[in-house]
Amino acid sequence: MERTLILLKPDAVSGKFCGKVISRFEEAGFTIRGCKMMQLTNAILREHYAHVADKPFYPEIEKFMSSIPVIALVLEGDDIVNVMRDMLGVTDSRKAAPGTLRATFGKDVMINVAHASDSKETAEVEVKRFFKNEELFKY
Ligand code: ADP
Repeated sequence: MERTLILLKPDAVSGKFCGKVISRFEEAGFTIRGCKMMQLTNAILREHYAHVADKPFYPEIEKFMSSIPVIALVLEGDDIVNVMRDMLGVTDSRKAAPGTLRATFGKDVMINVAHASDSKETAEVEVKRFFKNEELFKY
């Protein structure tokens, strides 16, 4: 079984639609292995967003992602990394396919509902970045 790391971003938390997003994950048959609220620091954000840290818009991402706490989830399911990226839609919410989470709940290219790992390898690194072993549950 494959795992992925999800961050429900500040827009989902402040917009009070985390529950609706999590419902979609449950309806898709995914299993919640870990779940917690976190205030992200600039240090963890710089690591997590290392691939865009040199972009001119990076300071905005840091400000947005640390503006209020996020909800971090580890979800498990068949081919979940690919299935989740399809469910989420492309980065720019305005260009995301109808029915995707970003098309439904997102605002623009930065304010876009959730982060989801983009490969199996990244997922394993990201799960470890945000969760200790004892925060993940087998049941
Ligand atoms: P994704 O989250 O779809 O995997 P990226 O890894 O390319 O996208 O970017 C990470 C995050 O950085 C995006 O989810 C978004 O919040 C932000 N971002 C990406 N591109 C831009 C941009 N051009 N302007 C502002 N924020 C951006």
